[in-house]
Amino acid sequence: MRRKFDIVVIGGGHAGVEAARAAARMGAATALVTLAPETIARMACNPAVGGVGKGQIVREIDALGGLMGLAADATAIQFRMLNRSKGPAVWGPRCQSDRHAYSAWVRKALADEPNLTIVAAEATELLTENGRIVGVRVETGGDAGASSPAGGVEGPPGQESAPLDSELGRAEKASQAVRRQADLRCDAVVVTAGTFLSGLMHIGEKRWSGGRYGERPANKLSDSLRAAGLRLERLKTDTCPRIAAESIDISRCTAQQGDEPPTPFSFLNDTVDIEQVHCYLTETNEAVHEIVRDNIHRSPQFSGRIETFGPRYCPSFEIKIVRFPDKPSHQVFLEPEGRDTNWVYANGITTSLPVDVQERMVRGIAGLENARVLRWGYAIEYDFAPPTQLRASLETRQIRGLYLAGQVSGTTGYEEAAAQGLIAGINAALALRGDDPLVLRRDQAYIGVMIDDLVTKGVTEPYRMFTSRAEHRLLLRADNADRRLTPVGLEVGLVDERRRRRYQTAVGAVERAETLLKSARSGGKTPWKLLCRPEMTLAKAAEALPPAAAEELARLREEHPGPLESLRVDARYSGYVERQEAELRRMRELESRRLSETLDYHNVPHLRHEAREKLSAVRPRSLGQALRVSGITPADITVLAIHLSAGGKRGNVGSETGNMGKM
Ligand SMILES: Cc1cc2nc3c(=O)[nH]c(=O)nc-3n(C[C@H](O)[C@H](O)[C@H](O)COP(=O)(O)OP(=O)(O)OC[C@H]3O[C@@H](n4cnc5c(N)ncnc54)[C@H](O)[C@@H]3O)c2cc1C
Repeated sequence: MRRKFDIVVIGGGHAGVEAARAAARMGAATALVTLAPETIARMACNPAVGGVGKGQIVREIDALGGLMGLAADATAIQFRMLNRSKGPAVWGPRCQSDRHAYSAWVRKALADEPNLTIVAAEATELLTENGRIVGVRVETGGDAGASSPAGGVEGPPGQESAPLDSELGRAEKASQAVRRQADLRCDAVVVTAGTFLSGLMHIGEKRWSGGRYGERPANKLSDSLRAAGLRLERLKTDTCPRIAAESIDISRCTAQQGDEPPTPFSFLNDTVDIEQVHCYLTETNEAVHEIVRDNIHRSPQFSGRIETFGPRYCPSFEIKIVRFPDKPSHQVFLEPEGRDTNWVYANGITTSLPVDVQERMVRGIAGLENARVLRWGYAIEYDFAPPTQLRASLETRQIRGLYLAGQVSGTTGYEEAAAQGLIAGINAALALRGDDPLVLRRDQAYIGVMIDDLVTKGVTEPYRMFTSRAEHRLLLRADNADRRLTPVGLEVGLVDERRRRRYQTAVGAVERAETLLKSARSGGKTPWKLLCRPEMTLAKAAEALPPAAAEELARLREEHPGPLESLRVDARYSGYVERQEAELRRMRELESRRLSETLDYHNVPHLRHEAREKLSAVRPRSLGQALRVSGITPADITVLAIHLSAGGKRGNVGSETGNMGKM
């Protein structure tokens, strides 16, 4: 078979689905090649979307016209706004999801896309000609563990894993099928292979080849990426045991309720009408810690079987015990995986200790004395491509038309993956049209912060988002993501008519309310200024308005509660933002000074040797990005700026000019 598509996306995880849908919606004939279509948008770890930093990303994906916020709202079982005790700038919307419903909802959404074809196959080879991508070779059937990186790999911990997952049976059946090959011709490829590239899974002394529990790995694509000139390294991540709900004694745990009313993720939803389920909180104790300490040598992370790094901020339970020896207990959140399932995720005890240790450890926790474990915790090591090999568009520098996004670029988390997938899909489609890539600025979106961090600084562990990574977090709030990014989504052609109309109506209301609040005066201060006080509400500030204006404001508040509340937060932070203006202007000016990708830093006079080496490795696209490369000093930037002024005349600037991001 030889078929021609515009864009082929490899991998149906959280990155892949956003990439494929965005590309298809922007008019590209798109194929999504994925190992098992029934696992599309599967949550491999905790059944939850959002959180602090991550929730902001979901809102940004939604504002650009992406899928994740809509899918989360449609399939949530509990909503909570995290960080409410702090300022609204760092509030993090989060929901507990029905894991199976989420995946099914996304599958249906993709099936409804007319420009999108789903291909159930393994992508084994990237086809290139003269440094450009021209297609993807795919295979169906074949042996799941055929070319394992670990040589004599041992089998999965069969009977100990009580009861064995039916998914594993399916993977084994697939491995007995006959292999067939086909070439899909295309102009761009987005690789979103997650943890599947040469995946090696661990529980205690056992290890086996796999992409996720019960799923085959993708071993051949790594070789093809290397052949294309990409450097691959290894990272690891782990997950916790799943427990049968009926075996938990909830009377010994603390119930955690959702927010009433729930705050939806998507700007298209005013409310979500669901019955929320409870999660439960319990904690570990000294006896449990003792079990872990006594068996620490059997953990693959301590026995030397795993030598790669996992997320430092989300450590395994055994690492917590070693790192915090004096802590008498650690919280464990018991989170249902859905409405119609008895699977409960034990958030807080990710582990790859042997099964007998996990069993004692779990049963030592209050409420889990009689727990029946449905799946044991495990760790997985996998290949990833250090992201300094990518442009800010997420295209690789090595091969034109080849984009990478998600866990394969060194991140962890569904939200981080989805955001990169969305940007890679958008940029692949823009490149087809001959348009400049979309590069979001750091003062414009958490997505901009993340991608800039990845391509500028690289990673030494799986990267996850925190609000502390953003220097302009008062601007990058969950509540104003639509105002920041829906115009960008409109410009690239991803925002549909319904969202456009809703957005414009909301913006109209916000602008009108701002005019009202700024125009009326009370004792010399406008109501806008009064709103700087944290305790001041819009209703209270409106008392300072003439009656007709107050009435109009009350009507706007009733019709557009979300956008008007966001305006109140704007007013509250306006003083800080004004004070940051000078710094913002300086940064935007540096961002607009472009550096050529082919600039020879060794020929830039007076540049330090270290700066030459580092800039040659990262190849920043602007002076602003150059300043963020580790080891680059303001003095280096001055040298470069002087060189640019002269070099610009010699055509040494402006290779990647695109930046649709506008505030
Ligand atoms: C054990 C484990 C623990 C984790 N722990 C956490 C955690 O604590 N916190 C957190 O935020 N995140 C965690 N994650 C990570 C989270 O699952 C990922 O970050 C997220 O799913 C990444 O999305 P992705 O789209 O990049 O890849 P994935 O969701 O992994 O999807 C990859 C997709 O690519 C397909 N695929 C791969 N190779 C090929 C190929 N060659 N051909 C065709 N299809 C292919 C696969 O079938 C799959 O559909 C964990 C993941 C695992 C496996």
